[in-house]
Amino acid sequence: MSDFSPAPELAPWQRTAAGAGLLADDGRIAATIFAEMSALALRTGAINLGQGFPDEDGPAEVLEAARQAIADGINQYPPGIGLPVLREAIARHQHRFYGVDVDAASEVLVTAGATEALAATLLAFVDTGDEVVTFEPYYDAYAALIARAGGVHRTVPLHFPDWRPDPDELRAAVTDRTRLIIVNSPHNPTGVVFDDEILELVVELATRHDAIIVTDEVYEHLTFGVAHRPIATLPGAWERTVSISSGGKTFSTTGWKIGWLTAPAPLVTAVLAVKQYLTYVNGAPFQPAIAVGLELPDAFFSEAAAALARKRDVLVGGLTAAGFAVSTPQAGYFVIADASPLGVDDGAAFCRELPERAGVVGVPVSAFVHGDRHDVYRSLVRFAFCKRLPVLEEASARLRRLG
Ligand SMILES: *Cc1c(COP(=O)(O)O)cnc(C)c1O
Repeated sequence: MSDFSPAPELAPWQRTAAGAGLLADDGRIAATIFAEMSALALRTGAINLGQGFPDEDGPAEVLEAARQAIADGINQYPPGIGLPVLREAIARHQHRFYGVDVDAASEVLVTAGATEALAATLLAFVDTGDEVVTFEPYYDAYAALIARAGGVHRTVPLHFPDWRPDPDELRAAVTDRTRLIIVNSPHNPTGVVFDDEILELVVELATRHDAIIVTDEVYEHLTFGVAHRPIATLPGAWERTVSISSGGKTFSTTGWKIGWLTAPAPLVTAVLAVKQYLTYVNGAPFQPAIAVGLELPDAFFSEAAAALARKRDVLVGGLTAAGFAVSTPQAGYFVIADASPLGVDDGAAFCRELPERAGVVGVPVSAFVHGDRHDVYRSLVRFAFCKRLPVLEEASARLRRLG
């Protein structure tokens, strides 16, 4: 996206957004592959395993708490940093699961989803020309937000099928020009959970080059037999780390957009300074509801992960039987499958045909990498398995027709 060069006929006010890859060269909003694929799914009646949202509601207590909050009149602007009940629940959650003590009054900030936390963090810390390091493939919003903040996006490749970064490539990417290192573990789109050696190296490099670590942990509870270790818990990390999460994925409430970050107070203050002029606040009645979710017993969290692991197994089995080479994810909502054993060379073209050929929608992994790296990830396709088991069974049966 950042290597997109705007066409000269654009007006000056369009060029800025175009330079960040947000506008196409005809001045329209740049169509994302997700919108294109969802439209295809609608038109063809295909099963949409493109976008990652659950097709079932989350815990009844959480939904009921939101209804109750509306009835109780929690419908006006909450405090800019979030309702105390949610900030305290986040602090207790960090202690319960990770043994981290954060001050609910100064080290927690509630945001409009993890997305706003990311946007406000990037706008707070990145100056024009500062470098931001992410792994690649990456969650697509990173590239757009880095570009719009004026940053330069450097990436460290992850390789199919185990997705472990090469420590030397990570060392080479981080320099004194690096302002932020964005870590996303558990990782979207690959489903990898980074091991301690990689996390320790990130902390070591960030410390050596005085960079801030931003960690996107929205899949923290959705791991399959692998422990999630927040990077902020590593020695030396807390003081330079902004940890971001969200209720959307954990509680199947992606439309509520209740996210948060935890960080040392000076970092929280810098992000809040930006956030107060973005959304200011959001989702008042959803905040106490997500607080209820965060206080649910351990069994809820382990059962949610176990249920998702069963879904993963069904789709991994279906893709394997259909002839794909599959990288089994350790966490999250997605699986990446290599379509080259099926004779596929161009994943994007394959994804455009797949609804007609098999009645299933996936997204090419090239949507999550820079344009000049499309070739490396060419034949890879991402499928979401956060759907009901019968839907995944039907999708698997349909995919077998490809063989
Ligand atoms: C879904 C997702 C987000 C966005 O979270 P919201 O709370 O909906 O804003 C951020 N990062 C990753 C890796 C995601 O998969």
